[in-house]
Order: sequence, then structure tokens, then C-alpha cells
Amino acid sequence: MTDPPCPLCRAATESFRLIDDDAYAFATVNRAPMNDLHFLVLPKRHVEQLDGLSAEETRSMAMLLFRLEKAIMKARDGSGGVMIFMGRGAHKSLEHLHFHILPTKGDPRRLISAHDQVPYKEWADERKLIAIKEQIMPFL
Ligand SMILES: [Zn+2]
Repeated sequence: MTDPPCPLCRAATESFRLIDDDAYAFATVNRAPMNDLHFLVLPKRHVEQLDGLSAEETRSMAMLLFRLEKAIMKARDGSGGVMIFMGRGAHKSLEHLHFHILPTKGDPRRLISAHDQVPYKEWADERKLIAIKEQIMPFL
């Protein structure tokens, strides 16, 4: 049997796979961890888009994220936050849909704020909030 070409399809058999108790999705330790509790949650099937997931895969992935969020918070004695972001689109090197889940010290907004060079917390006025709403409405 030959290995699948996708590294995340291959991840289903790695020794650092973490939770693998149903037929639809699994959790694994990130191969390039950003900190000591950085995990991936992904479907077992090679899926590239959210709307390509079956209902069972969606449910299984959500349950894995819930379990890991609780575990991370317990491991960190409830301090800090937990950040979840979708891997596909964040960087294009891995087309196999996956979610990253990892703890952050303090508010995860600080990471985005620093990365995008925007104010950490600044309440926008109603006009700006409506402009943001109108920007996404045609796509909903
Ligand atoms: Zn894959």
C-alpha cells in the first residue's frame, strides 16, 4: 500500500495522533507546534472546503474542539485563552481542511491586533459597524 500524497491524510496513522475514536475525524499534535499544547482537528477524509464536510464529520470535529478546549483550559489551570483558527486559507501549503487549537496567554485578540497592526480594542461607531455588515451581506 502506498502512502497518500497529502501529509494530513498521512497524519491519521502517526504516533502523535491524539484522539481517534470515531470514523469521521481525529485530533493530532501539530507537527510544527507554536506552543506546548498546539493541536489539529481534521476530517479523516480528504476534504478541502467546509461545505464539503458531511454532517457526521462536522459534528465529530466540533466535539473534538470542545474536548480539546476543556483539556487545554484544565492543563493551563484555567488561565489564558484558547484560539481556534481554520488552517485552510490561513496558509495554502495544506489543502486538507483542518482547525488549529492552541492556548494563548491572555486575550487572543492581541495576536491579531499585533499581526494586522490594528488597535487592540477600540469600539467602532455604529456607522462603521453597519459598513462591516453591508460588506458581508451580499455573500451570506
Ligand atoms: Zn488529505
